[in-house]
Amino acid sequence: MIADHILVRYGELTLKGSNRKSFVNQLKVNAQRALSNLDGFKLKANRDRMYIELSDEADTSAIIQRLTQVFGVKSVSPVFKIDKTLEAANRQAVALANAYQPNQTFKINVKRSDKGFPMETFELQRKIGAAVLENTEDLTVDVHEPDHNIHVEVRHDAIYVYDEIVDGPGGLPVGTGGKALLMLSGGIDSPVAGIEIMRRGVTVEAIHFHSPPFTSEKAKEKVIELTRIMSKRVGTIKLHIVPFTEIQKQINKVIHPRYTMTSTRRMMMRIADKLVHQIEADAIVNGENLGQVASQTLKSMYAINHVTSTPVLRPLLTLDKEDIVKKARAIGTFDISIEPYEDCCTIFTPKNPVTEPKFAKVEQYESVYDFDEMIERATANIETLNINESYQSETNSLTEELADDLF
Ligand code: ATP
Ligand code: MG
Repeated sequence: MIADHILVRYGELTLKGSNRKSFVNQLKVNAQRALSNLDGFKLKANRDRMYIELSDEADTSAIIQRLTQVFGVKSVSPVFKIDKTLEAANRQAVALANAYQPNQTFKINVKRSDKGFPMETFELQRKIGAAVLENTEDLTVDVHEPDHNIHVEVRHDAIYVYDEIVDGPGGLPVGTGGKALLMLSGGIDSPVAGIEIMRRGVTVEAIHFHSPPFTSEKAKEKVIELTRIMSKRVGTIKLHIVPFTEIQKQINKVIHPRYTMTSTRRMMMRIADKLVHQIEADAIVNGENLGQVASQTLKSMYAINHVTSTPVLRPLLTLDKEDIVKKARAIGTFDISIEPYEDCCTIFTPKNPVTEPKFAKVEQYESVYDFDEMIERATANIETLNINESYQSETNSLTEELADDLF
């Protein structure tokens, strides 16, 4: 049976005053964008929920699928909007129950927010339940663990009946929480970190450090593909690709091998920080996870972080790897992330990087060369791509060029 409306419930209902107003307005814009290539519906956002009116041509399941990707949506239900009479409620509940399997159980849940409605909640529940039992075969009531919950909401404008609730991602609508720059490698973690931060309402642009020919064109394509997958949830994402080869080579020339990793990260951070100011973002986000690898100890984070006063957010800091993997699978980035193309960090990783870099030492090593000019050049030559769901790379699988003579 095809519903006539979709009910959208908001997350974070504790929001008050003007925050709530901008939340609802932004959510409406984001929902409309998510549905922009579908038709046959009309969207109306109220203070406490959203209704989408469906015409006969509407593809209800596609609309539901898309809405449950929108941050700020707590859950959605296909609903029937009916007249405010007991007879209409009975009819609709029976119609739903007629689709259930024999010997299944159900429960009627009445919510009566229109206190002026002439019948009490309990009475309504009983009468609608009786109507369902009378007009169906082999169904029974189970108030504890029913196979089907038939919800009847008596509101001021109408009665709404439904038996399905599909969970959304919750969180806050993207666009309500400022802007951040996501350091996006081709790995498993950083796309997950990006999604986590977007779920809190933050608009994200991404930065990727690319070191051809040490890293292949495929590694770059992988990052484009990861961005494309993320963009399905939030619309176009700007991806800034930084030419990093020159800096990478210089690091390997002048920095002690055990410190190249720390130094590489510091240079990345310095460039990210410059871009943050250019794009007027408020924070840097990365996929670091405490203790996971050499560069991710507290000492290491301290040494790397020292080059910037911009807040560096690490949404995955305390998660276990298996939970990150679970999240990566759920958002659809895992299979791309595990493709084998190396990123610059993997290729340049020394055999035994220092796990507890001494801050003073890094500074000393870096002081033998003035990196400023290279950093300026890399920043000036950033290539920016606008990636959306239907983005297609101009380059398709180019031949792999590998680093032959590194040091
Ligand atoms: P990931 O799975 O995100 O690559 P990781 O566990 O492999 O993380 P590292 O490779 O040490 O960890 O990188 C730590 C973080 O530094 C990454 O999560 C990412 O935010 C950032 N980073 C690393 N390499 C790059 C790169 N080439 N471009 C942009 N950011 C990068
Ligand atoms: Mg990595």
